[in-house]
Amino acid sequence: MRRIVQKLTIQRRVAILICGSLFSLGFLLVLFINLIAPLLITSEVGVPDTLLLVSTVNAYGTPITVIKETPAPKEHTISPTTSVISTDPLRVVRVLSLVGLIMIVVIGIFSSKWIAGLSLRPIVKISQQAKQIDARSLHHRLKYNGPLDEVKILADTIDAMLDRLEMNFERQGQFIGNLTHELRTPLSSLRMNIEALILDPEARLEDYYMLAETAERALSRLEQLVEDLLLLAKGENEISHQPVVLGSLIDEILEELSPLAQEHNISLKMSGEIDSEINGDAVLLHSAILNLVKNGILYNHPGGFVEILIGNDETEVRVEVIDNGIGISPDVQTNIFERFYRANKGTLENIHGKGLGLSITKHIVELHKGSIDVESTLGIGSKFRIFLPKCC
Ligand code: ADP
Repeated sequence: MRRIVQKLTIQRRVAILICGSLFSLGFLLVLFINLIAPLLITSEVGVPDTLLLVSTVNAYGTPITVIKETPAPKEHTISPTTSVISTDPLRVVRVLSLVGLIMIVVIGIFSSKWIAGLSLRPIVKISQQAKQIDARSLHHRLKYNGPLDEVKILADTIDAMLDRLEMNFERQGQFIGNLTHELRTPLSSLRMNIEALILDPEARLEDYYMLAETAERALSRLEQLVEDLLLLAKGENEISHQPVVLGSLIDEILEELSPLAQEHNISLKMSGEIDSEINGDAVLLHSAILNLVKNGILYNHPGGFVEILIGNDETEVRVEVIDNGIGISPDVQTNIFERFYRANKGTLENIHGKGLGLSITKHIVELHKGSIDVESTLGIGSKFRIFLPKCC
């Protein structure tokens, strides 16, 4: 039964529903009439009156038909000598109500289809409009102006979905543009250097060594870019879930970054509940936290600090990376997690970066069903907080 209903179009379902309701109501009415009418009619006189059509002859011998009313209690009398038609009022009511019921059903069948078609017309209109929207016309909206009903909710939902799609398409376009730029820059500088060397008849062996060094730098930049992209493309089912002790993981990160910290004269420290443990992918979590600590070192002043605090509650572990560096202005604090976004581009010329670090960190944290946020004040410093469920 369910399968049959599921195969029916909405229009047919509505039509059947309207028709069914009309039939049920009509049937109830007929039932009511047939049950109540006899009570009313008999209770009035006790016995129904009967009318007789009597065929007889008049004084001149001409055949005539007269109506005679028989007194109660004689009822339904059919005279054997005369031709009589009984007109029992109950029977009339029953016949009429049945005829009425049949008419209701017939009218219902036609009108319900029409009503269903009429009420579904806005949906048909909306779907026709939606069909015309493709990747090139994602800025179009349905802008349905009807009353606040289910159709309006549907149209508004589609419009909201188009907003999100358009935004994602734009981001995708920006991402491809940035990626192309990141790929093209090292490749074209490499090509220019090779061309210059080929065209130089006086090129010496040292020039070739220099070219080899430039090529090595360009290749490692490209390699790093590919690694970053692979990290960003990681899906939830590609990560491992093993017990990770955060204190040990962060110790490794601090050791790895200590040369960079020394170079920038930044002190590194860790405190809090260092034994906190979570279930996750140690390699990915290493990259995620390393990005934050590295940023804390790079976007800082000589003599500054980066502190890592580990906190714990019943359900989640919190890792805070706090620095007293240059800070981030409030209006760009949400953008810094976007791919290839770099705040204060002009002032960061001397800091190498592609604007992928925080988006990779966010992606990894989300793969672990966690979240990340930032609090920062320009000129004072920043605090990045990662929340990870104890068991994911
Ligand atoms: P990248 O460091 O390669 O530019 P990120 O995604 O790691 O890329 O960071 C994005 C931007 O956020 C950086 O360019 C920088 O402007 C800002 N930012 C990140 N971390 C900090 C920080 N600790 N202090 C100040 N600014 C930061």
